Amino acid sequence: MSSFVNVSAKLDKINLLNFDRKGMEAFFIEIGEKPFRATQLLKWIYQEDVDDFNLMTNLSKSLRTYLIEHCGIIAPEIVVEQIASDGTRKWLLQMSCGNRVETVFIPEEKRGTLCVSSQVGCALACTFCSTAQQGFNRNLSSAEIIGQLYVAQKRLGSEKKITNVVMMGMGEPLLNFDNVVTAMNLMMDDFSYGLSKRRVTISTSGVVPAMYRLTEVCDVSLAVSLHAANDALRDKLVPINQKYPLHELLAACRDNVKLAPRRKITFEYVMLKDINDTDQDARSLIKLLKNVPSKINLIPFNPFPNSNYECSTAERIDRFRDILHNASMVTTIRRTRGDDIDAACGQLVGKVQDKSRRHLKLQLAQPTDA
Ligand code: SAH
Repeated sequence: MSSFVNVSAKLDKINLLNFDRKGMEAFFIEIGEKPFRATQLLKWIYQEDVDDFNLMTNLSKSLRTYLIEHCGIIAPEIVVEQIASDGTRKWLLQMSCGNRVETVFIPEEKRGTLCVSSQVGCALACTFCSTAQQGFNRNLSSAEIIGQLYVAQKRLGSEKKITNVVMMGMGEPLLNFDNVVTAMNLMMDDFSYGLSKRRVTISTSGVVPAMYRLTEVCDVSLAVSLHAANDALRDKLVPINQKYPLHELLAACRDNVKLAPRRKITFEYVMLKDINDTDQDARSLIKLLKNVPSKINLIPFNPFPNSNYECSTAERIDRFRDILHNASMVTTIRRTRGDDIDAACGQLVGKVQDKSRRHLKLQLAQPTDA
């Protein structure tokens, strides 16, 4: 647990956590080494948990000296750790420039899920999400994204394994495309964490052009924050819908399912009292998703200070689920975890030096999704 002074002091070095296997190979070629050094390094860092180059015994003495002089394995540092009564853990992590983000570990009987952040704050303005209220500062680097997994696994030790990763922390992952893809490649690399593509999920509010790109370059599970079954309501709840309306969003989802025969998209639907939770809403949802292989995940709304919404009642959520079930739609209700430490969906806030407020309107009109 140390301050960010340490982090910034090391910033002049090349941070090896920024490289996936391809990037690491390119790096070694550039410094006149053989590309197979990349897999050796990945194994030391992510599997052997060694961060002292001197201990990397299968590297030549001269390479070790080079790495000591020029490189570092620089992960975010844990500033605060909170453990909820249900075992959920939330870490506040120090990133450079005074920013902090939150990462959450959710233990379950047979798996351990890490909820990873992709940006400091978020530039989108979903009205029911507390991260949105924090504003936006910057994208996280690949090192800061994979670094969340790295420090969490170190902190948890060998007994509690991270088996699943969901990119559902702070930020819109598809607006930080390259860094998120590099980090997810590392999560799935057999020389690193080796997670299967079914256990790495990216969640998006619907940055449509980036969804097509993702389908082309990175095969991970896809979750879409839907939250409304018609454009008028979605325009309000998830304002990026004004730019990429539902028919475009669903076309991108259908494109993604071509990656595997029985693939399904997970649609997240936050349950907001008297806003999107009527029987009619459920029926509209069924109609909307008729041509997309889907799973629906109903998320009870998690309140935060000054949120203008209330969560639907438990009976309403059950009734909503039953309507979907009766139409043969795979539907689950997300159990709220870690609510005594504000670790639930949409409650992650970190510490964001907001740079965006003045530009928010502009950004919404022209999302940076190239
Ligand atoms: N930007 C990405 C990922 C981050 S949020 C996305 O939009 O998908 C992860 C999930 O939590 C999203 O489905 C988001 O809509 C949902 N969420 C946000 N705020 C919430 C809240 N207060 N209560 C419940 N779910 C919330």
